[in-house]
Amino acid sequence: MTLTGGVSGAATRQSTGSAYTDGVKRIALLGATGSIGRQALEIIDANPELELCGAASGSRPIDGLAPLTQVGGDPTDLLERAQPDLVLNAVVGFAGLSSTLWALERGVDLALANKESLVAAGELALAAQRRGGGRLIPVDSEHSAAFQCLEGRAAEQVHSLVLTASGGPFRGRSYDELEEVTPAQALAHPTWNMGPKITVDSATLANKGLELIEAHFLFGLPYEQIEIVIHPSSTVHALVRFRDGAALAHLGYPDMRVPISFALTYPERVATPIPPLDLSSGVTLEFHAPDVETFPLLGLARWAGEHGGTYPCTFNAANEVAVAAFLDGRLPFLGIVEVVEEALDGGDAAEPRDLDDLIAADTAARRYAEEALRVT
Ligand code: NAD
Ligand code: MG
Repeated sequence: MTLTGGVSGAATRQSTGSAYTDGVKRIALLGATGSIGRQALEIIDANPELELCGAASGSRPIDGLAPLTQVGGDPTDLLERAQPDLVLNAVVGFAGLSSTLWALERGVDLALANKESLVAAGELALAAQRRGGGRLIPVDSEHSAAFQCLEGRAAEQVHSLVLTASGGPFRGRSYDELEEVTPAQALAHPTWNMGPKITVDSATLANKGLELIEAHFLFGLPYEQIEIVIHPSSTVHALVRFRDGAALAHLGYPDMRVPISFALTYPERVATPIPPLDLSSGVTLEFHAPDVETFPLLGLARWAGEHGGTYPCTFNAANEVAVAAFLDGRLPFLGIVEVVEEALDGGDAAEPRDLDDLIAADTAARRYAEEALRVT
């Protein structure tokens, strides 16, 4: 078995843009007004082989942005009308699930930024992808990097995968020092400029926890073969150690336009405005173990992933509720951990059989989390 099965599922497809009508890949962009969405528009604008056929946003108007647009509602309505060659799912949160499943089930290539949908749906998403046979190309920078290091490798050659984390704005602080931190402080990320939800997730390390589960499903690696390390400069995005003692790393400036461009143009690799890495200016690579005492959400995510069933869905749902409450000023920073812990206590390891089971698990976790908010 080779790794990155999600992507190589469609390896039989022609490997050039000519597989598409007139050599143009028609893209539906979901979450067009967000951080990923805006950077994707820049990449699409600059590349004549990419054409925007549809765009969706949650609430902000996007008239005229694409031939077909939709604001609010279920983004799969737009996908049905647009019939794209590739869906870039850059919606934030569980709201991206229906679009992920829509693309996977139909064999439409999916460039996935919306990690929450893969974390929540897990095996259900992979089963849909196997039925559909399209590509699942990660947009998350660490997973794009891991995909490139793993591509075509047999699973038995791999010793372990390492995902890097910047450590966020509170790296180096103790648990007690986080008691009073405000949303504004949590939103000041040192290396990446992103939407508010993922920025808070980076400050709690929940983002790296979601990414751990995302990597497990994307690459079919067991949890004990996936390691998280803190790497403050975000220069190395991922690293794969092989059984012969060699390790391959993926390096680059922290700029999401690189993995977005990679996912939109795969298996081609086009030019972007990002400069090549300048080693002569002095690049130092520093790595250390994450502080799981101060950032318990990383450990809780690993626990949820290892216990499987609907636990990852529960972790994600409770985290979404807690982060929204923190950003609203209704929950202290450290309360996010408590809310997620409470919801996991009410979760279970039963495998969701279908979408209804998954939605029921998500709804139940949100109820638990709301309940926990009232007492926290
Ligand atoms: P963001 O908050 O900047 O943008 C979110 C987008 O989703 C907006 O366009 C919003 O209108 C849309 N949206 C929200 N709810 C919706 C709904 N119900 N239906 C349709 N559209 C809806 O978020 P972002 O930072 O761009 O992140 C998007 C996704 O990409 C997240 O899953 C995040 O984890 C992932 N991601 C982001 C980055 C980054 O650098 N921003 C990096 C890696 C992964
Ligand atoms: Mg990431």
